[in-house]
Amino acid sequence: MPEPLPEPEETRFDGDAAAEKNRVAEALAWVAADLTERGAKAGGEAKDVLDAQALMAQDPTLIDDVNGRVDGGRTGERAVHEAFAAFADLLIGMGGYMAERATDLGDVAQRIIARLRGVAAPGVPESDTPFILVAPDLAPADTALLDLEKVLALITRDGGPTSHTAILARSKSIPAIVGVTGALDLADGTVVVADAATGVVTVDPSAAEVADAERRIAERKAQAAAPITDGALADGRKVPLLANVGSPDDAPEAVALGAEGVGLFRTEFLFLDAKTAPSVESQQASYTKLLEAFPGKKVVVRALDAGADKPLSFLNDAHEENPALGLRGLRALRASEQILRDQLLALKGAQDATEADLWVMAPMVADAEETEYFVALGKELGLNTVGVMAEVPSLAVLADQVLATADFVSIGTNDLTQYTLAADRMLGSVASYQDPWHPAVLRLVKMLGDAGATAGKGVGICGEAAADPQLAVVLVGLGATTLSMTPAALADVRAELAGVTYEQAQARAAAALAATTAASAREAAAAA
Ligand code: PEP
Ligand code: MG
Repeated sequence: MPEPLPEPEETRFDGDAAAEKNRVAEALAWVAADLTERGAKAGGEAKDVLDAQALMAQDPTLIDDVNGRVDGGRTGERAVHEAFAAFADLLIGMGGYMAERATDLGDVAQRIIARLRGVAAPGVPESDTPFILVAPDLAPADTALLDLEKVLALITRDGGPTSHTAILARSKSIPAIVGVTGALDLADGTVVVADAATGVVTVDPSAAEVADAERRIAERKAQAAAPITDGALADGRKVPLLANVGSPDDAPEAVALGAEGVGLFRTEFLFLDAKTAPSVESQQASYTKLLEAFPGKKVVVRALDAGADKPLSFLNDAHEENPALGLRGLRALRASEQILRDQLLALKGAQDATEADLWVMAPMVADAEETEYFVALGKELGLNTVGVMAEVPSLAVLADQVLATADFVSIGTNDLTQYTLAADRMLGSVASYQDPWHPAVLRLVKMLGDAGATAGKGVGICGEAAADPQLAVVLVGLGATTLSMTPAALADVRAELAGVTYEQAQARAAAALAATTAASAREAAAAA
């Protein structure tokens, strides 16, 4: 993939500033129109991303900054570079979701500079044969328009799981492995196997490894083509398969791929750019729209999970040294109880207006006292089914106390792994700890599963772990009663579950629990 354009030089510009500003204005308008056109072509989620980028190219504050720099003796190219870089720094300083938007800004700047220079913007190379694309990071504008016939998979050096590259690739069902150190050392033309399910890239695979990969690809294709049935084990035991969604617009795809309901609606995704708390009416409209897509089905909605990688400026924008350990999830909601009450009221409105079976849960809950607080508030406001997420290890340790009050528990394995292994899930340097196969995580899941069985209450899984077919079986063996995942993963998990009995799932779970590392747990489960 072509390297970014070199940085424009810092030479003094003594020409006609007014003419230079006009040239920049033309380039900004051209890039904005180009991005809008690409968005219209791509449609869906990509359109939203590209429209947002087009807005960046027309942002009045940024344009003022660029013009000011031209007046101060910069060339148009240099002024664009400096103004966009300064804004990107600001976003990076904010961390998390905002920092990931800095990539989008850098891409817009590159496109404007390319236009000013009269050269093509860096982008995806043309090729007649299908290929795996390797890049430092991919701009949303490029990811959105990837030719699905040509690009077999994506490998990037940068990017976290919530970067737009990952989000868009997932929505286009392109296997994508992000954050691969050393990705750029791969020479053009190298043969690699990219397995997005495990995140493993095999360089120069042996004939046996290629044959194995081809067999697995054929298997996946057959699974995807298999008729859609409800989730069940080989012995008929039901394991409802639910979808993780971030917007009511995700519902049609989830339904089409056979989701039996929603296991996690990340409501904060609706409000990441909001400056003020959303009104009860606007929230109720969004929730009603989602619930209407699932008449008679279960829909689990999570109360706003603000903080750490997903800051919401109206809930918690204070600087924290360790935001993952800070005022996030239920802690932030409790500190701004009116916002929580408004959300629960909006959910009650949606519950009454639709036929869906609404369940509501709180994120980042630590113990029985916090559970009692949330459940009591939810019931006071008229919600039928109220539960909590198990993401903090203390909640698993106290599962029996928690389940005395909560109607259900849903395990967020992403955060449960982060907190159990004390490894920031956004940090590439400790990414190897972020493995839910770790027996410490599995033992906590078992504690929750056992407590759920004793209390006769549901214990679901809604973290990424549920999307790993082998791990999904183990989680069911540990007592998980439902599995919720990105809709694209439903077919693989459905097929895997159908091949094992509950007894076999329990045997795999027991083998994994006895292992000492994540890797050996995976092997032990496969051999059981
Ligand atoms: C989790 O932590 O596993 C989870 C489902 O929540 P999120 O990924 O949104 O933090
Ligand atoms: Mg979480």
